[in-house]
Amino acid sequence: MAQAARWQPRQQQTPSRHAWRSGRRALILLAAAITIGWSAFATGTGPASASQAARSQLTASSRLAAADRPGAGCPGVGSAGFTPEPLAQAQHQATALAAKMTLSQELTLMHGVSPGSTPDGAVGATAAIPSLGIPAVNQQDGPAGVGDGVTGVTQLPAPVALAATWDKGLAACYGKVLGAEERGKGVEETYGPTINIVRVPQWGRAFESLGEDPYLDGQIAAADVNGIQSQGEMAQVKHYAVYNQETNRNTPADNAIVSQRAIEEIYTSAWSAVIGQSNPASIMCSYSAINGNFACQNPSLLTGILDRQFGYQGFVGSDYGATHSTVASANAGLAQEQPESTYFGAALQQAVASGQVSRSTVDQAVIRILTQMYRFRLFTNYPTGTMADTVTTTANQRAGLTIADTGTTLLKNAQVGGSAVLPYASATSSIAVIGADASTSPMTDGGGSAGVVPSAVVSPLQGIKALAASGAAVSYNDGSDVQAAAAAAAAAQEAVVFASDFETEGADRSSLALPGNADTLIAAVAAANPRTVVVLNTGAPVLMPWLGQVAGVVEAWYPGQDDGTSIARVLFGQTDPSGHLPVTFPASESQTPVATPQQFPGTGGQVAYSEGISVGYRWYDGNGVTPLFPFGYGLSYTRFRYSDLHVSADSVTADGRPGPLAEVTARVTNVGTVAGADVAQLYVGDPAAAGAPPRQLEGFQRVSLQPGQSAAVRFPLDASSLSYWCRARWELLGLRGRLVGTGEPAAARIAARGAQCRAAVGCRARAVDPPGGPADGDGELHQPLGPGGPRRPAQVVGLDRWRPAARGRCGPAALG
Ligand code: BGC
Repeated sequence: MAQAARWQPRQQQTPSRHAWRSGRRALILLAAAITIGWSAFATGTGPASASQAARSQLTASSRLAAADRPGAGCPGVGSAGFTPEPLAQAQHQATALAAKMTLSQELTLMHGVSPGSTPDGAVGATAAIPSLGIPAVNQQDGPAGVGDGVTGVTQLPAPVALAATWDKGLAACYGKVLGAEERGKGVEETYGPTINIVRVPQWGRAFESLGEDPYLDGQIAAADVNGIQSQGEMAQVKHYAVYNQETNRNTPADNAIVSQRAIEEIYTSAWSAVIGQSNPASIMCSYSAINGNFACQNPSLLTGILDRQFGYQGFVGSDYGATHSTVASANAGLAQEQPESTYFGAALQQAVASGQVSRSTVDQAVIRILTQMYRFRLFTNYPTGTMADTVTTTANQRAGLTIADTGTTLLKNAQVGGSAVLPYASATSSIAVIGADASTSPMTDGGGSAGVVPSAVVSPLQGIKALAASGAAVSYNDGSDVQAAAAAAAAAQEAVVFASDFETEGADRSSLALPGNADTLIAAVAAANPRTVVVLNTGAPVLMPWLGQVAGVVEAWYPGQDDGTSIARVLFGQTDPSGHLPVTFPASESQTPVATPQQFPGTGGQVAYSEGISVGYRWYDGNGVTPLFPFGYGLSYTRFRYSDLHVSADSVTADGRPGPLAEVTARVTNVGTVAGADVAQLYVGDPAAAGAPPRQLEGFQRVSLQPGQSAAVRFPLDASSLSYWCRARWELLGLRGRLVGTGEPAAARIAARGAQCRAAVGCRARAVDPPGGPADGDGELHQPLGPGGPRRPAQVVGLDRWRPAARGRCGPAALG
């Protein structure tokens, strides 16, 4: 099959789009400082300590809520019926079967069938063993739809667009589409989602990842995996771990020199959430070397963090060509080499014969693989579809459209002539649509293994024409002739320029600037028409030297095959653009947290992760650097007011038993005139002595409201929200909240549960200042609307962690 011949070590491939195709939100509110004190939470002493296990469990128990079930926007997607086999039963059956297997049969499950020879045309597979009734396991990309060049599938919005929705229900829906379509193609194991942190804004795979924050990443990914696996499809979450750039990938020169604290808090944290909340069947180890040892043979990452800390019970498979040894990999916990048998075929057989790898290590790997096969009922409920089947459906496409709509992020919407430039009035008489991205080559997805062939594409020009009033003149200019484009803009009431860049696996972007003549084109069009709006189709941040000249900016990401329908709905106000940035947009390339060559792409065979845990917004906040648009930022066509912020310690379990340790609640009201959605975000700050960034995301909740309607938002905080990595263990911090006040002495309620408001800290009112949004002295907080632009109120809930003085062993020097 065509797609099977596609595989070759990807770092050697030349990126070519077609070859591959196949406000920050914040509470302005008065804040009262309160302290909730807990005495003596057990913190354990080693990597496998009780507190670490509890941390994983807590993640599992307290955050699995109705919020990550597919909700509105997902009707008709997938099937409802799959119930996995209980794990213990699956383990029992797997152990019994493994006991009957010869070494050579066991090794069959531990490596791939070469691409090009997979039994059912998938990109990867393990072979069947008919004598034992073991079926083949077909494996296919990927994170944004069935990949590897197959047709008849839905090209979903890029995962970064999903992350921009900040919506776990939509993430579950996204996963359901993936799971249903992969299974419909006869695939048993999906490679995805990609959950690596966007450390480097130039990273070629930023579009297929879920942003720069581990909490957002983990929550969205867990819901996505739950959606995939709800269809009876095994998910292989990738790429574990510390895989953050394409340059030098899968070579010793991509050797990340990174602190244990950054590994724990930033680079493996989302994996903890995913394992706790969705128990993925499999995890793909990455191309990276971490502190000198490749990921797929790294015992500290595999047996240490995955197995002991996170209690992971699925199996680890290697990325394609990411296995670099036999003995070290098998002993570190790699269960399956893909896509071939270079190290886990005859070489592993020999290693077992010579005693370098024990038979029990092989048995354990095979039992882990078979357990998942039983859990997903592959012995009794094997998929019947084939690669030739058409699996896209109207419902799946509609789900993609809803996700594209919801993730579209409004970055600027200036007043022109007394009203905001967007949405377009129904009486709009003429629109100049400009840019190749609008019509001749819409950028609907990125490239590489996350690229997906769309079943059909609606271009922005088609979408706009379909929604413009009858009689409105919609002109098109591809932007190649800047003067002609400016003239078209000058002649129209509205001008909208579509600009894009192309990201792909296999190469990092050489610059954050838009490619080609885009910047010149936008500036010229803006000079010709003061109502110019820019629509960006990018997978990650781009620079905007023209920001002050344009009236509006919309980031539509790579919106998938219904690109044009979605963007037209946003431009005409049929839907509220309610996405929020999952990545910081820097003002310049030199401003990013990884601006030195030692940090990216690395020098002398090493990549210095010297920024430690100060990744993304954590770095901007900590260094007082104002980016172009901060993480979490996003406007709406309506306005929201936040009130009634409370903290409650009602669920405290003083002995550390699972359960939320505290809960923050607030009320959000739509005080504008149109329906819209907002994402309330909870950030928590650590004590200065912890050497942590000023604040870190620990909760978010999307609310959709009619004008005048209000809703409560709730943020349960558990041990995983309140711990930090201290030398070789997780340490639980107490809470000191700077909480929104409504005048109510929140401390009084908390005191009743044994906590106290410390007079020394004070229960005084004060404002919480969101990153990128300095208080301007009027008692409210505002976010900048682009440099020099108007400001708007922002909503952030601020809360501080604190470290009880009695446990003072971790000073900043220890935090690395
Ligand atoms: C990519 C993986 C992908 C695999 C199979 C590798 O090059 O890094 O993400 O799943 O190829 O296509």
